[in-house]
Amino acid sequence: MTHRVYKPMLAKAASTAFTDKDWLFEIKWDGFRAIAYVEDPFSLKSRRGKELKSVFPELAEINNLGRNVVVDGEIIVMQNGKPDFQILLKRGQAVSTGQIQRLAKRVPATYVIFDILEKDGQSLTKLPLIERKKILGNSLKESSNVILSDFIEERGEVYYQLALEKGLEGVVAKRKNSFYEEGLRTGSWLKIKRFRTCDCVIFGYTRGSESREATFGALLLGVYDRQGKPVYLGKVGSGFNQQILMLLRGKFEKMKTAAAPFEHGVGEVVTWLKPKLVCEVIYQTLTHDTKLRLARFQRLREDKAPSECTVDQLIEEKSMNMQTEKLSEYVSKRNFEKTPEPNGGEKTKEALIYVIHEHHARRLHWDLRLEKDGVLKSWAVPKGIPETTKIRHLAIETEDHPYEYGNFEGTIPEGQYGAGLVKIWDKGHYTPKVWEQDKIEVKLDGARLNGNYVLIRLKKSETQKNWLLLKGKDA
Ligand code: MN
Repeated sequence: MTHRVYKPMLAKAASTAFTDKDWLFEIKWDGFRAIAYVEDPFSLKSRRGKELKSVFPELAEINNLGRNVVVDGEIIVMQNGKPDFQILLKRGQAVSTGQIQRLAKRVPATYVIFDILEKDGQSLTKLPLIERKKILGNSLKESSNVILSDFIEERGEVYYQLALEKGLEGVVAKRKNSFYEEGLRTGSWLKIKRFRTCDCVIFGYTRGSESREATFGALLLGVYDRQGKPVYLGKVGSGFNQQILMLLRGKFEKMKTAAAPFEHGVGEVVTWLKPKLVCEVIYQTLTHDTKLRLARFQRLREDKAPSECTVDQLIEEKSMNMQTEKLSEYVSKRNFEKTPEPNGGEKTKEALIYVIHEHHARRLHWDLRLEKDGVLKSWAVPKGIPETTKIRHLAIETEDHPYEYGNFEGTIPEGQYGAGLVKIWDKGHYTPKVWEQDKIEVKLDGARLNGNYVLIRLKKSETQKNWLLLKGKDA
């Protein structure tokens, strides 16, 4: 008999624990997510659909504990009262039967089950979680290697504190009356963790020096946006031990590519890699231009596909960051993919910046730069910014500049591109009103300029890089 395949329901990130009678809380286990099909044939599937039963032979004992059920849980290896992900990783990499058997004896895995998806051929996903929990308790016995996840109702804050005191990662909050939403990352499950983490794709690395000369300096990390386009999140250069440095360096050899997935700041030797490896990093905050600040490498995540590493991980976190305590409760109770209610994040979005550089290059000009998608869209304006609505000035589109360039002032040395003095002529925030292929309208609010400005592309120009800049009418 072939069984129906279930995709695991996923949790969104939330920043704070809360107390609420409509929710229950469980420990967030640090391991491999796996769905067990306790039927004929038995199967234990990773979230990517990989068969795990031969890698964790000791977990087959689940077949003696229940029958004809499909359950969802996490495979962990406990060491000193905590899950040890490094050892689990080693378990996951074992190939030979002998090695697998030895490790299964020495560092046995535990399967912590927190949900039941099917019983006697009947799908249970449309039952409220609290009902599923009852059925789970009545359907499966526990053993030394297979346990049911404990949970506590309502008192999430207390439980979260306890989890941290025990050195655990955090808790998962689950809405008691929620369905099992297969394959979806919904607001009905929230992970509340001690550290902010992000699963990133390793897109490349920089050359190392001194003790890291033989391996690498930093990893270039990214995630995918909603269109599947890679987005650069910055670098991570710490958190590696010698073993992981060597392991990664070895893996990189077969993954090199000449194709750069995104533009990267100059002055560094970068080796690009095919997007195949996923790693988890912890970080403190996101910078204005959505780069990870104070990132630290945590672990490779071979249980996750690169395509699963999306920008949503951050957007969620970013909007959560900025909400007040009260709003975080409001947000945690709603699924904004389903409700038309506002998500409370709109107003708190960070303002976009603009800067105008006065650039004493071979020919004096002004560079207008508008923040867009994390970079500064740029135009060189030879005659400067028009001060009345009657004047139109030519603006020549130039290459995107990094966000950090917004603070740049200084002298570009002789012989370098754009040699000469660069000063900030004006700086401030702007609101985009129109942003189309051939027309951009913005309201500037800066130290010097204030009001509407319009850019119109001159379609007749050969390169399509010529625009007209004019001062718009102010309402
Ligand atoms: Mn310039």
